[in-house]
Amino acid sequence: MSQRPDPPNHCRRCGTCCRKGGPALHHADLPLLRDTIILREALYTLRVGEPVHDQVKGQVVLLDAECVKVRSKESAVDSSAKSEPGCRFYLPDPSPAAQASEWASGRCAIHENKPQECAALKCWDTAGLAEAAATPRLSRLDILGPDNALAELVRDHETHCSVADLLRHLQAPTPESADLLRQAAAYDAALRDLLQAKAGIPPDHLPFLLGRPLPEVIHGLRRWLARNGDHSKKDMV
Ligand code: SF4
Ligand code: SF4
Repeated sequence: MSQRPDPPNHCRRCGTCCRKGGPALHHADLPLLRDTIILREALYTLRVGEPVHDQVKGQVVLLDAECVKVRSKESAVDSSAKSEPGCRFYLPDPSPAAQASEWASGRCAIHENKPQECAALKCWDTAGLAEAAATPRLSRLDILGPDNALAELVRDHETHCSVADLLRHLQAPTPESADLLRQAAAYDAALRDLLQAKAGIPPDHLPFLLGRPLPEVIHGLRRWLARNGDHSKKDMV
């Protein structure tokens, strides 16, 4: 078995951070999208109110502003698809020695243009990452532009499938809650179908445009509630 290396004081490109998943994007990253270094199919959106793991706080919190992230390899369009974890830009070293080691190395496919959080990340000193993570995050409307025809659909989807509303119905169900959750899920599914069939939107753009499918969001909220109960609204980021 390979031996765990000493903690580093410089980046030796071991890829451990990249194997944990992709970064959130910030305003400084907008040129990477404009220059098509990062394409929309490489992104997904976590919507306001979704529970996420806050790397800096080291705990799960509810988002108070949406977060556009680089997708992981496992967050394929077909979420049942089996694939490797880690940021989709992470390229593991294919050599047998590297593959056999728990501490295999790899590289970033966009190393020269990596996003702000990645450039700031030093696993031996998290101050830079905390500073980068505190800068304004990019939203879908920042990326689409306010006049983009899809921006209106994003707003409509937020109205019909608000995560805050879902959480409220899960947390304190009324006699109508089950129907309202079903209606929201049906709206979400229908809009995804419509965007593909009528607007020619590729299916792999949907995780960016509409976030995760609503059943996945609801599942995440149920897990959050199971762990946090009535205290779940206290930790908003
Ligand atoms: S910053 Fe990431 S790639 Fe560099 S040494 Fe730390 S874990 Fe490895
Ligand atoms: S964008 Fe590159 S540096 Fe950042 S997590 Fe992905 S592979 Fe690692």
